[in-house]
Amino acid sequence: MFGYADVEKLRGACAPRSAVLSLYLAVPLDPAGIRGLAAGAVELMACAVGLAGGTEDDHRVRARVEAADREAVLGVLAAHGRDWAGHTVAFFACRELGLFEVLPLPCLLPGRAVLASRPYIRPLLAAVQRCPDYRVAIADREHARVLSVSGSRVQTTATQVDRGPRSSGFGGWYGLQAHRTQRRIIELGRHHYRDTAAILERAAAGGHMPLVIGGHHDSIAGLLRALPAAAREQFAGSFHADPHSLTEARVRELAGPVIGRWVARRERELAEEVLAGAPGRLAAVGLPACLAAVGRGAVDRLLVPDDGMIPGFVCDCCGALDASRGECPGCGTAMRPVPDLLEEMVQRTLDDDGRVSVVRDAPFSVAAKLRFPVTARRAPASR
Ligand SMILES: [Zn+2]
Repeated sequence: MFGYADVEKLRGACAPRSAVLSLYLAVPLDPAGIRGLAAGAVELMACAVGLAGGTEDDHRVRARVEAADREAVLGVLAAHGRDWAGHTVAFFACRELGLFEVLPLPCLLPGRAVLASRPYIRPLLAAVQRCPDYRVAIADREHARVLSVSGSRVQTTATQVDRGPRSSGFGGWYGLQAHRTQRRIIELGRHHYRDTAAILERAAAGGHMPLVIGGHHDSIAGLLRALPAAAREQFAGSFHADPHSLTEARVRELAGPVIGRWVARRERELAEEVLAGAPGRLAAVGLPACLAAVGRGAVDRLLVPDDGMIPGFVCDCCGALDASRGECPGCGTAMRPVPDLLEEMVQRTLDDDGRVSVVRDAPFSVAAKLRFPVTARRAPASR
């Protein structure tokens, strides 16, 4: 399945003397839309944002996609386009590098074509972040199932059955016997949730993956109470359903929106956290402050919006990034235009082992949580 490994592989590709085409194409669900797919791809590629042919005044101009790369994209689209209905497909092509990657993404993203010296990865990061792999635990008092969901693939990874007392134990008794039976049921229930929680704890130790719990209200509460701290931290939300009627496909249908809300909540919380930290010294908000922080390798987590591009310049000598044309403020070398400073900052942050989050409806152009305080060279700009 598509994931961070794909992003890292693409980050290794670089064509300093030519251009890598990155094309993000949303494939519609309806057959009429599929028929217009090739035309849509041609149109996007014709408007590719890049640098070739740039003028003094506008260095982010339409750039020409290599004919061979364009034909390769259209060939694959004609053969497989309808297989990707309802998804965005990402193409990365550069004949000079021998690069041709096609990645069907697990979600829909806006169409876009970019020509740059490296694959354009910001939308890929958004897709990884928005459609994470996750676990689902389905529990009642006796049974539990743990499923793992990766894209459209659902797999049951563990099942747990704890039989309650035999039905004869209920046989018309009241008073003490009934009381004992009731206590036994409660104890078995707790024991069962602890066993299920232990499965989830072992799974949680394998790496952070959000957890959704499904079932009846009391089972969800029982399992949540039994979860150890490590697994509890991964709890993303729950859904109510009758556990016995749930197919794997139905589990994914019900858990997907829970994960979607969890991802959106985390994006909002990250943005609020950085804005709340901005008056202190371990946060940067706005382009000048973030460029300074990236330049110093100070970014712990970079927060970028999911759309929009900010054209700018890079110094090939010392690596400085800047929004204005001219000589490098660091070393005096003439700077080279780049189509998107946000993308450059993303790449630089990942190079420095920082993390990147893509935020929808971000209340800033770019922001960052810092490892150490950095003072911006220029006066702070607007968000
Ligand atoms: Zn420089």
